[in-house]
Amino acid sequence: LNASSNIDTDIKEIIELSNSINFLGKTLKNQEDIRKRYALDISHELRTPLTTLQTHLEAIIDGVWDPTKEHLEILMSETRRLKILIDNLKDSFTQEEYKVNLNKSTFNISTVVKDTIIAFLPIYNSKNYNIKYDIEDNIEVFMDKDKIKQIINNLLSNGVRYLGENGEVFIELKRSQTNLVLTIKDNGIGIKKENLPFIFDRFFRVDSSRNKETGGTGLGLSIVESIVKAHNGEINVESLENEFTKFTIVFPL
Ligand code: ADP
Repeated sequence: LNASSNIDTDIKEIIELSNSINFLGKTLKNQEDIRKRYALDISHELRTPLTTLQTHLEAIIDGVWDPTKEHLEILMSETRRLKILIDNLKDSFTQEEYKVNLNKSTFNISTVVKDTIIAFLPIYNSKNYNIKYDIEDNIEVFMDKDKIKQIINNLLSNGVRYLGENGEVFIELKRSQTNLVLTIKDNGIGIKKENLPFIFDRFFRVDSSRNKETGGTGLGLSIVESIVKAHNGEINVESLENEFTKFTIVFPL
């Protein structure tokens, strides 16, 4: 009886895991589509006024065109248009956030966090990595369960992705009177101080040549941040190159 109920929970876990992968896949596809569309629009929009400027400046340099003040005003207005285009572009990138629709329910977050970590162990603990945790028992919350799992999965996979041999990841969940505090610390490659302000930006990857072999998309942390914010929480990061990286998430209770 015991063995068959274990198989049941295993199958349930596999189904849940494949649902998360499916959801993440769709998110990535959407983000990728947005990025491609932007890149196409941008190159088209920027090309037209630049071509006008280029051909007219070439004509002046070649001495085949002697522009009047009125002509120069037209070129000036093309330059202004370019500047506005670039400003708009910047705004559209900063405003366009990953939209999170929450599906909240009451559940025991202690169990959910523990189970998510345990589902990770067989894959990663075999590779000379060590995943340790200290989870306070029986914390009831009203949150989006799948999104909480996604946070754990994204941060854990970063933790092990940027870990050296025999590295360690430590996850802690604690409750205070007003807050729920989740920390994930690893003793991996760390993040340079100058890169820290950008790691939550979409598509940002530190030193992408170094990171090429580790896979990744530069989306994981931006998704985590959006989920945390949707729950009115806060996320912070501390890191020292070649020493450690520690993410602290605080949710109001
Ligand atoms: P990626 O898919 O590239 O991991 P993320 O948004 O999850 O994208 O992370 C952005 C960048 O932040 C990563 O490319 C990596 O350079 C850095 N980073 C994230 N987590 C860690 C960590 N635990 N240790 C070291 N660097 C990290």
